Amino acid sequence: MLDVRGVRKVYDGHGRRVEAVRDLTFALDAGELACLVGPSGCGKTTLLKCVAGLLTPTAGEVLVDGRPVTGPPPGLAVVFQEYGRSLFPWMSVHDNVELPLRQKKLSRARRRKLVRDALDAVGLADAHRAYPWQLSGGMQQRVAIARAVAYEPSVLLMDEPFAAVDAQTRAELEDLIRDLWHELRVTVLFVTHDIDEAVYLGQRVLILSSSPTVVQKQLTIDLPDERDQLHTRADPRFTALRTHVYEQIQAAKRGACAPSGSAAAVGTPDARPDLDRTPA
Ligand code: ADP
Ligand code: MG
Repeated sequence: MLDVRGVRKVYDGHGRRVEAVRDLTFALDAGELACLVGPSGCGKTTLLKCVAGLLTPTAGEVLVDGRPVTGPPPGLAVVFQEYGRSLFPWMSVHDNVELPLRQKKLSRARRRKLVRDALDAVGLADAHRAYPWQLSGGMQQRVAIARAVAYEPSVLLMDEPFAAVDAQTRAELEDLIRDLWHELRVTVLFVTHDIDEAVYLGQRVLILSSSPTVVQKQLTIDLPDERDQLHTRADPRFTALRTHVYEQIQAAKRGACAPSGSAAAVGTPDARPDLDRTPA
């Protein structure tokens, strides 16, 4: 469904040259939920913009459903990190969610149903007349998710969507994503800098190295499909997997590959290895 082949992106302008992404290759099957984890500044947003057709890669190519991406592909939706900037403050929640549907040739009744169902699915059925600024941060991000869902995408890209909400809301939104994914069977590429979040959400975790960015390792998350915040996070396998991801990221910083047998290692359950706070 999603094929990223040798993508490289160099920003070149105003006398400053930045190689944001060196060489990324990976693929997602239809209906897969994969998490991409990597430190801040390693090119995650750059990659998503290339996949979404908002940026042209310097080298390599992206295919969505077998077709090369040359502009925003039909059937692809993105949820950005900054919900505050992605919703229009002068439009009601209903109108914000409906906006992308106006590009599709749908009847008014059909549009209305899609908006209602999407707001229902994210638990905001009562809020359709409200304005984004009347809602909490977590609710605004739900609106952004509803907008993506209403569009009925076959591929959903999410760029650190919960980085700006509090921990409790974040846990709820993580479960919401798993629920929506189960229901819609959409292909999801979820980008995060949070190792725990990547392991909790994904069927597979793609670990990016720090700049110059390559895919350091891919890891299958062999946790049960039914996940919940209490039991999954307390599962020794969860702890072992996140320790493994953490080791891979440390190894990436040293420019090496961590021994793969270390997945069985047991880490400290209360330490949350958050990449942004990891000492160099
Ligand atoms: P991430 O999302 O992983 O934090 P980004 O993709 O935002 O990383 O950025 C990767 C690198 O590319 C950073 O060094 C950043 O400064 C640089 N960069 C991002 N966007 C631009 C741009 N429009 N022009 C120049 N450099 C950019
Ligand atoms: Mg980013």
